[in-house]
Amino acid sequence: MKTIGVLTSGGDAPAMNAAIRAVVRMGTDNDLRVLGIQNGYNGLIEGDIIEMDRSSVSDIIHRGGTILKTARSEEFRTPQGRERAKKVMDIFKIDGLVVIGGDGSFRGAQLLSELGVPVIGIPGTIDNDLSYTDYTIGFDTALNTILDCINKIRDTSTSHQRISIIEVMGRECGDLALFAGIAGGAESVIIPEVEFSFEKVCTSIFEGKRRGKLHNLIILAEGVAKKIGGAEKLAHDLEEVTGLQCRATVLGYIQRGGNPSGSDRILASKLGTRSVELLLEGKSGIAVGIRNGQIIDVDINEALAMEKNFDEKLYDIAQVLSY
Ligand code: ADP
Repeated sequence: MKTIGVLTSGGDAPAMNAAIRAVVRMGTDNDLRVLGIQNGYNGLIEGDIIEMDRSSVSDIIHRGGTILKTARSEEFRTPQGRERAKKVMDIFKIDGLVVIGGDGSFRGAQLLSELGVPVIGIPGTIDNDLSYTDYTIGFDTALNTILDCINKIRDTSTSHQRISIIEVMGRECGDLALFAGIAGGAESVIIPEVEFSFEKVCTSIFEGKRRGKLHNLIILAEGVAKKIGGAEKLAHDLEEVTGLQCRATVLGYIQRGGNPSGSDRILASKLGTRSVELLLEGKSGIAVGIRNGQIIDVDINEALAMEKNFDEKLYDIAQVLSY
């Protein structure tokens, strides 16, 4: 192994930069030539590739986004697109690749590794929707961004004695909503893993009102919001039934940005260095992650096939503490 490439793909996440930095510095430390592929798999197909050294990743550990940019590539989904990518890798003499991204990027990485290119996947997504790892890079930062927003909404919600619905990201995974609900002291958490009950939310509001609560915070996961017609519709329906003012805030892309948290920077540094070690060990088609505090590496196919273990205990805690 003489030359390795690194790219970020799919939705961006805070601390992707910290992961790039770790790959580049671990690579150069092991006398590897490191190339940065820009714009995800598109950059691989189009040869949008830059030389990287220790100083090209200076001053980025604290920055959100990704210096390599990210993209979605339709062409890479086709066998022809992946063959082109493989040819470009041959031209640039790339012997191994580190892909930082979510489950879609991992599927692409797996297919590329089947063409004979060693590929290692680092989980970079705020959604925490990869089952094989307890945490993905970016999740903790996004959680803290949401908490900051909840604190602010709580102030105004209390002043006006309103119900506030806060819609958060996570696609089909409710982790961001559940963690934010517990840490933000929400009255209700609505997540895809638990069947939605309008009556249950109403009961919580009436119960809160009876006990003199000045506000009612509802954290709504995007996976459910899509199914029930959106946060605004839920606000309207709740107003109608409870007679109380209800306002919806969809946090949106604010959750993707910002300076990465300490935990995310450390996770990115651990996973970035480990991915280079695995390439040096001759491994391919592997996803790195963290489980019970230990850095792990598993076959990408296995990683993608794993069912997400829903933490019911955590949901119970959210219920108990919301009263
Ligand atoms: P994420 O990695 O954040 O889940 P996407 O699902 O959009 O984001 O995937 C990012 C890119 O990975 C896609 O634009 C595509 O190029 C590639 N990709 C996703 N799914 C596949 C697939 N099944 N086969 C090949 N490439 C894929």
